[in-house]
Amino acid sequence: MTIQNYINGEFLDPISGEWLDNYEPAVGEIYGKIPNSSEDDVALGVDAAEKAFSHWSSTSQQERSKILATIADLIEASLDELAKAESKDNGKPVSLAKSVDIPRAASNFRFFSQAITQFSSESHESTGQNAINFTLRKPLGVVGCISPWNLPLYLFTWKIAPALAAGNCVIAKPSEVTPATAFLLSKICAKAGLPKGVLNVVHGLGQTAGQTIVAHPSIKAISFTGGTATGAAIAKTAAPLFKKLSLELGGKNPNIIFADCDYDKMLPTTLKSSFANQGQICLCGSRIFIERPLYEKFKVDFITKVKQLVVGHPEDTTTDLGALVSKEHLEKVQGYIDKAEKEGGKLLTGGKKVNVHKAENGYYLEPTIIEVTSNACVLNQEEIFGPVVTIMPFDTEEEALALANDSRYGLSATLWTNDLNRSMRLSSAIEAGIVWVNTWMMRDLRTPFGGMKDSGVGREGGLEALRFFTEPKNVCISY
Ligand code: NAD
Repeated sequence: MTIQNYINGEFLDPISGEWLDNYEPAVGEIYGKIPNSSEDDVALGVDAAEKAFSHWSSTSQQERSKILATIADLIEASLDELAKAESKDNGKPVSLAKSVDIPRAASNFRFFSQAITQFSSESHESTGQNAINFTLRKPLGVVGCISPWNLPLYLFTWKIAPALAAGNCVIAKPSEVTPATAFLLSKICAKAGLPKGVLNVVHGLGQTAGQTIVAHPSIKAISFTGGTATGAAIAKTAAPLFKKLSLELGGKNPNIIFADCDYDKMLPTTLKSSFANQGQICLCGSRIFIERPLYEKFKVDFITKVKQLVVGHPEDTTTDLGALVSKEHLEKVQGYIDKAEKEGGKLLTGGKKVNVHKAENGYYLEPTIIEVTSNACVLNQEEIFGPVVTIMPFDTEEEALALANDSRYGLSATLWTNDLNRSMRLSSAIEAGIVWVNTWMMRDLRTPFGGMKDSGVGREGGLEALRFFTEPKNVCISY
C-alpha cells in the first residue's frame, strides 16, 4: 500500500520525494511506503487549513454535525476494510480491530457530531451592577493533532472529531508506525463532503513532520497522545509559543484486587486489562496488587488462564494476542523481561518470543507474568507497554493506596472490591485521572479523559474536548 498525504482535498506524494518503509508486524516484512514529510509538506497543509478556516468556522453547527455523522456512517460501512488494514499495520487481532478500534472511531465522529449541537456557553448576570456577561466560544483556527500507534484510528479520530466539530481546521499526523487507517480516513472524509483544506493529514516522522507541526507559529493548539518523553519535548517547544496544549501520555496503572471482590468477574477482566492489544493500551493495568488472603489462589488461577491465551496470526479467529507493533518495540519489552531476575522478580509464565507458523519473522511474544517483591523495581516503575504484568501481595488498604500512588504516572487505576466505603475512599485518594471500580475500559464518551502527574496535562472527552478546541471570550454589557 502506498500512502499519500491528504492536503487541501488532494492526495499528494511528499514534496521531497522521500518515503519511509511501512512494516507488517505479523510477518516482519515491509508491505508499503509512507511519505517522509518535511517542513514543506506541513507548510502546504497549514496554508490550506488557514484558507479553509473562514468558511468552516462560519458553517452552522447543524452543517458540521451532518458531515461528521456522514463520516461516522462511512467508517461503519467500511468496518471490514478498516479492521483488516488496522490489523495488518499494527499486528493486533482483526477481531479486536473489528470489535473495538473501528467501532470506536465511528463513535468518536458520531458522538461529536451530536455534542456540538448541544454545546453551549455561559452567561453571568452581574446583579447590582446592571450588567450581563456572556461567553463566546470561538474555534481556535488551525490546530495540530498528533497520535500514537497503539490504537491508531481510535485515537486519531478522538482528537480530530472534536476539533472539526468546534469549527477548527486540522493538521493531523498519525504515527509513522501505523499510518494506514489515517490514510483511509482521508478518503472517507473526502467522500463525506468535508470541504477541502479543513482536514489535512501529513505523514512522517515525529522528529521532523511532528516537530514542524508543534513549532509552526500558525498552529494554535496541539492535541497530543503518546509517550511522556515526547510530551515533554512538545511542551518545551510549544509552551513559549503560548499554544494550547493537551497531552495524553504514558501510564503504569495499578490493578488493586481485594479479597472481597467478585472473583468470577475480576479474573476474566484482569486477563483483558493485562493483555488486550498485547498489553499495548495506555490504560492496561500492568501492576497487579492482590490482598494477601486471595494471593495464592489468584496466582494459580491467573497463571492457568494466561497459559491458555493463544498467541497467533492476527487474522486467525482463535488468536487472543497478535504481534507487537515493531521489532524495536519487541526488543524493548524483552529487555524488561531480561531484567526481571536482577530486579528481584520471578518469571511465573511467558517471557519468550513465539514462532507463529508461516509468520516466523513476526514480532510475537508470550503473555508474561512476573512476581515482584517491591514496587520500587524497574518493572513496576517504568512503562513497559507490552504483554508483561507484575503481581505482588499487600496486607492493608493503606498499603494498597501507597503502592498505587508510588509512581510518576497517574493515568488510570482499577479497584476490585465489594466494600462501598472502601471503593469511595480509594477512588478519592488514588492519584489517577480515571478510576474503574469492578470494571475496566468501560467508557462513556461524555466523561473527562486524561491523566495526572507524568501521565499528562488537560482532559479530552465530552465537553472538555470542545472547550479545549475553543477560545472562551467574555463579553460584558452594561445596561
Ligand atoms: P511516541 O511519543 O513515540 O509518538 C507519538 C506520536 O508523536 C507519533 O505520531 C510520533 O511520530 C510523534 N512524535 C514523536 N516525536 C515527536 C516530536 N518531537 N514532536 C512531535 N511529534 C512527535 O509514542 P508511541 O510510541 O507512538 O505511543 C506509545 C505511548 O503512547 C505510550 O507511552 C502510551 O502510554 C502512550 N499513550 C497514551 C495514551 C493516553 O491516552 N494517555 C493513549 C495511548 C497511548
